[in-house]
Amino acid sequence: MTTPRHSHRLTLLAGLVALACSAPALAGKSVSWEDILHDDQTPGDVLSYGLGLKAQRHSTLTRINTKNVEDLVPAWSFSFGGEKQRGQEAQALVHDGVIYVTASYSRLFAIDARTGKRLWEYEARLPDDIRPCCDVINRGAAIYGDKIYFGTLDAAIVALNKDTGKVVWRKKFGDHKVGYTMTGAPFVVKDQKSGKVLLVHGSSGDEFGVVGYLFARDPETGEEVWARPMVEGHMGRLNGKESTPTGDPKAPSWPEGPDGKKVEAWHHGGGAPWQTASYDVDKNMVVIGSGNPAPWNTWHRTKEGDDPRHWDSLFTSGQAYVDASTGDLKGFYQHTPNDAWDFSGNNSVVLFEYKDPKTGKLVKASAHADRNGFFFVTDREKLSDGAGYPNKPTALLGAWPFVEGITWAKGFDLKTGRPIESDNRPQLPKGGGDKGESIFVSPPFLGGTNWMPMSYSPQTELFYIPANHWAMDYWTEKLTYKAGNAYLGQGFRIKRLFDDHVGTLRAIDPKTGKIAWEHKEKFPLWAGTLTTAGGLVFTGTSDGYVKAFDAKNGKELWKFQTGSGVVSVPITWEMDGEQFVGIQSGYGGAVPLWGGDMADLTKQVTQGGSMWVFKLPKSAKR
Ligand code: CA
Ligand code: CA
Repeated sequence: MTTPRHSHRLTLLAGLVALACSAPALAGKSVSWEDILHDDQTPGDVLSYGLGLKAQRHSTLTRINTKNVEDLVPAWSFSFGGEKQRGQEAQALVHDGVIYVTASYSRLFAIDARTGKRLWEYEARLPDDIRPCCDVINRGAAIYGDKIYFGTLDAAIVALNKDTGKVVWRKKFGDHKVGYTMTGAPFVVKDQKSGKVLLVHGSSGDEFGVVGYLFARDPETGEEVWARPMVEGHMGRLNGKESTPTGDPKAPSWPEGPDGKKVEAWHHGGGAPWQTASYDVDKNMVVIGSGNPAPWNTWHRTKEGDDPRHWDSLFTSGQAYVDASTGDLKGFYQHTPNDAWDFSGNNSVVLFEYKDPKTGKLVKASAHADRNGFFFVTDREKLSDGAGYPNKPTALLGAWPFVEGITWAKGFDLKTGRPIESDNRPQLPKGGGDKGESIFVSPPFLGGTNWMPMSYSPQTELFYIPANHWAMDYWTEKLTYKAGNAYLGQGFRIKRLFDDHVGTLRAIDPKTGKIAWEHKEKFPLWAGTLTTAGGLVFTGTSDGYVKAFDAKNGKELWKFQTGSGVVSVPITWEMDGEQFVGIQSGYGGAVPLWGGDMADLTKQVTQGGSMWVFKLPKSAKR
């Protein structure tokens, strides 16, 4: 290990030192904003969650393709070690011949991308009283300059020197004892007005009744630049001062109790933007999904005696457009108003463009596959310009079911942007009991899809969604807020929807909502997807396989058994003239903890924790 050096000096001298000597712990190449800006066009590295600012998860590489993918073999495998393993849900980064991958229990590894040798490891010292809802997972890191950044389960974000693993700064952003935590990968953007690079990250913790925040920080020092709460009427911050309230300061989408004060739920309202943002450079807009309102129980967020559909619980369970300069919430589209089912809106919001089939005009759009079972296409320019709030023009272009058997809504009204609800909200107990009557709901709270990011192929113009068919029995329960306790007010049991499959990998056309193809899996799908210009879609399965499909027709072309369940996100990159595919194996996440009948089904999957890298043998077909 090298001795710690001052980071500024390290950056300035990096070039000179590299020329002067060849000691092993030299500073590697620094990552510039331009490197991150062009990440989707530079297959030699993977510098952002989503493989680019638009989060399309598409690689321009063609060396591995539909003709030769069957020859793919492991190049190496690396074990994360540790006595406790649990779920590995990260997407790795690759820079300058080094892989940076996060693992369960807030660990980060730097691995030699050529050999699989560990360069350094950082393990956060976690307190005993952390409260992760859905396993001790971590979804990845961000890289900029000479630092690598990731969140830890005790509600902190850490910056490490990317060459040594030494801590440069650490910022605690919330009280982990009341339920704040961090699992999502941070993201780097550049405020186009000030020219300042910002490190953007969210909080987690909706299941414990905390108010969700999106933060922007100075990547050099970790100082907060702005903070945006996602519950209407809560106050934002900019440069250490109060800035603007989120939406209307009176928060008309949250009711008052009989005492004239906001209901308890408003103080603990959730909405955490716990997944990773995408960034619209032209609009200077951070685009991110917001989490479910807290508590899950819809009646705690509805005025007594009123219809829950009149109380939207803004700005939860939707897609948010946040100004990178000020942290102001500019636009919002809500996928599930007054979400009663923990559908949340966190799944990736992917930026893409398409030609309107009717007018021939280029549409700058956002795509999002929601846990509520619908695939949404929205006008991201309109949303950046302030559309989407209640009583403002809707920016909804299309909303189609991407799974079968949806019980909560029949569809969406494109004029108002609102769901056409079926009668599927869980009811309060009759006669003042503690437990309401159980209802059948599909998708269940685990979602038509969940956190695992979908991908887009500009080649096929299709999105690839790791989806699931399942359902739940669901009933209301009596609830009062207690700091640090689960704040749900709902009971549930996850069940099967179909006998022959749970997982369904689906290709969907964003212009028509038509399902182009599907591939069924016996176990739930809980891994992200990746597309390549070689005509391929990569993903992993809970029973341990990494698989490659023909992006055009869904034909399974290759699979490899990794020895534990795969619930992570694949990447690909080019090095020394060869193409590599990387993915982590290690079963865990929400399904074995919350999944009822599906948790029972996957009990046979053994634990693990490793990174796998694949390539073509020299003899492979070109
Ligand atoms: Ca790149
Ligand atoms: Ca949730």
